[in-house]
Amino acid sequence: MVWPDIISEITRLQLNSSKVNEDNDQSNPIVKIITPEWYYADSLEIFNDIDIVWDNLERVYLIQNIADSLNEIGLNGAGNDGFEASFCSWYQSFHYTPRTKWGIHIRYWSWVDIAARFNQNCPNLVSNPFASAKAAFFYLFVHSVFHYLTECAASMLEIILQDPYIYTNYHSSIYEEVFNSHDCLEESLANTYLFARSDVCHIETGYLKEMLLKQGPGYSDFLKFVEPKFIDGIRRLISQILSGKLNPPFDLPIEQIMNISSSVDYPHNHNIPIWLHKRAIPLHDEDR
Ligand SMILES: [Zn+2]
Repeated sequence: MVWPDIISEITRLQLNSSKVNEDNDQSNPIVKIITPEWYYADSLEIFNDIDIVWDNLERVYLIQNIADSLNEIGLNGAGNDGFEASFCSWYQSFHYTPRTKWGIHIRYWSWVDIAARFNQNCPNLVSNPFASAKAAFFYLFVHSVFHYLTECAASMLEIILQDPYIYTNYHSSIYEEVFNSHDCLEESLANTYLFARSDVCHIETGYLKEMLLKQGPGYSDFLKFVEPKFIDGIRRLISQILSGKLNPPFDLPIEQIMNISSSVDYPHNHNIPIWLHKRAIPLHDEDR
């Protein structure tokens, strides 16, 4: 596995940094950009002992549970499937502490809701609850893998340059600033990455395209970067990270630092933790 080596080197760099850390809040920034009225309720790690491939998931009890429930639940008319923007799923970086919950976070009821819609409407998944439950997981998972790949690329730059603040600076001064706008390149590319892997997710391409086009600014801009433009988008994203500027004056041809070759092999080798949130309670309902 690769990530323990990357994380331990990032930790060493952070500890050795002479930079005074007052301005560099190392706590999880996600709560600042997605519905801050929600907090992390109890979560449990799932799939930590299996390879994330389509055939393996069918035997998992959790998938069977979700599949069994699909015929009983009504569709949520709102159709919330917009990842971070609608609090379905999010990626928690290992750059921030506490690091105990780094990885991909998925809200249980969002997963069920998306699966129910696939089971009812997605042409190749209609009346197939098992496949719908798995497809909804892959939908949320593959998008988040892109955020992990982005953090790994930033980590490579930090290790080469011996500067542990490149990612956190990018996150606070660019990503958080432009989140939910057309300038949010990382979300556009995460959806391009997902769209290019409709076969991995077993979601009919036309259906996935319409689904993603209905999402918010940034997310719905994914078509700008479909092949052969994807590599240009990655080059710009890496330049944003390296320069700390939303509009860097020029882009260095170093996009190869991002490993986008395979969405299937990469999670295998890196074993990204996946967390399921069964109860995610709004703060104002905390006392219930
Ligand atoms: Zn995202």
